[in-house]
Amino acid sequence: MSARGGIDLGGTKIQAVVVDDKHEVLGDSRRPTPHEGGPQDVADAMAETVRDAAKAAGLEPGALAGIGVGSPGAVDDGAGTVTSARNLPGWEGSFDLATSLSSALGPIVRLGNDVQVATDAEFALGAAKDSSSLLGVFWGTGVGGGLVLDGEPWLGRGAAGEIGHMVVRRGGAHCTCGRRGCMEAYAGRAAMEITARHKHEDGAKTDLFKIMEKRGRDRLTSGIWARALKREDKLATSLIERAVRALGAGVASAVNLLDVETVVIGGGMG
Ligand SMILES: [Zn+2]
Repeated sequence: MSARGGIDLGGTKIQAVVVDDKHEVLGDSRRPTPHEGGPQDVADAMAETVRDAAKAAGLEPGALAGIGVGSPGAVDDGAGTVTSARNLPGWEGSFDLATSLSSALGPIVRLGNDVQVATDAEFALGAAKDSSSLLGVFWGTGVGGGLVLDGEPWLGRGAAGEIGHMVVRRGGAHCTCGRRGCMEAYAGRAAMEITARHKHEDGAKTDLFKIMEKRGRDRLTSGIWARALKREDKLATSLIERAVRALGAGVASAVNLLDVETVVIGGGMG
């Protein structure tokens, strides 16, 4: 048996798994992503998470055949670096993540962009494994997308799949990218939270922030949105419906253009 490790590096949490050669999960572990410090602190937390997952699988990390990482930011697998991972602490520049993890844990480390590796996984093993083309939409803090066309990942010149920045309303809400009316400005968890805060300050009733405090969080995680929906919270319901309409408009436009066989919607909010 050859066991391998995988790490999903997110702005909120780090999740690690150890799988066997049939992709069965042998052990897993998660911990919060450090909010302070810099890339080395994040890399140390990633290494610890892999050690815990390996322990749960009854293995030493050094026994793994390799470790794959899905990371936000600009990922260069050849150089082993991640650059401008802006929702991670102090990570504006370039950091040699592959060398750092590999010297801490032993095995070789390969890096990929989080959205693209998630799309590849859905295509190889998941909901699109019998399809020849796929649009993956990952609905979380922002809205990311990945494409597989005719069995091959489509990266464009490196930036394809940015479905979150498709305009769904001309002259609409401000987006973090500086433009207006992007899908992400309505559907991204971060944008939804800003809108919820403004509406709450303007007097709209909602339990969203009460639930957040009760759970000791400092932002509206997808779990908090789920809880508010269950309680039929009016503001939460209307913002989620607005997000779904924006997603629907963007995804439908993308399908009109590309005519993909399968669309997978995932991510924390998905
Ligand atoms: Zn945008």
